[in-house]
Amino acid sequence: MTCEALFRSDSYLTICDAKVTEIREDGAILLDRSIFYPTGGGQPGDCGSLELPNGGKIEIATTRKDRESGDNLHIPAEGQNTDGLKVSDAIVCHLDWSSRYRHMRLHTALHLLSVALPYPVTGGQVGQDEARLDFNIPEPNFTKDDITAKLSEMIEADHGVSESWITDEELDAKPEMVKTMSVQPPRGAGRVRLIQIGDIDLQPCGGTHVSQTAEIGAVEVSKIENKGKQNRRIRIRFSASSDT
Ligand SMILES: [Zn+2]
Repeated sequence: MTCEALFRSDSYLTICDAKVTEIREDGAILLDRSIFYPTGGGQPGDCGSLELPNGGKIEIATTRKDRESGDNLHIPAEGQNTDGLKVSDAIVCHLDWSSRYRHMRLHTALHLLSVALPYPVTGGQVGQDEARLDFNIPEPNFTKDDITAKLSEMIEADHGVSESWITDEELDAKPEMVKTMSVQPPRGAGRVRLIQIGDIDLQPCGGTHVSQTAEIGAVEVSKIENKGKQNRRIRIRFSASSDT
């Protein structure tokens, strides 16, 4: 049974009921539904804890997808005792919200970075404090401050962030919509999720986002790195004022 991905329709859920569907020999826990985002698309998997029927708690270090089944694997932290857990147990998922919210803010900021720099994206990564995108830019002619100013403008404009879905075929007919060459949008279910930011950006994405761009807070370009003839790695981070 595939885990219902509750974070996809509501990225602000921090708690949910779920049932244990499988416990692997390596300790990985599978659930019928979850608010934990699994590592993917450059965004790290979520951590948090599972509250057991007997009041006990299992700390979850990260979440990732099973390579074969695509199901979500909740990976207990080192030294957690899972002996008391059985299939069919009703548990409560508690998300580590402070860590996830930073991912959501920086991930949404990367969408804006791809608007500020309308060039093909070749890679990306989101962290707690910093995020980056790699671009193919034939003739770079901007400074860190130029990009920071463009980002600030879009963040302060407080654009709404919304989702919609199209079919695989509709996406195939609009290849220009896919900015990220290295990370293809999640397919296979016959439909693809689109993330729209105001009227400035529309692209397929399976990650978690804030609902208004002002929630991102102040960010700045910390570094522009040369990663080859045309490749530029642009790093952003929270400005000191919004580093909460
Ligand atoms: Zn996204």
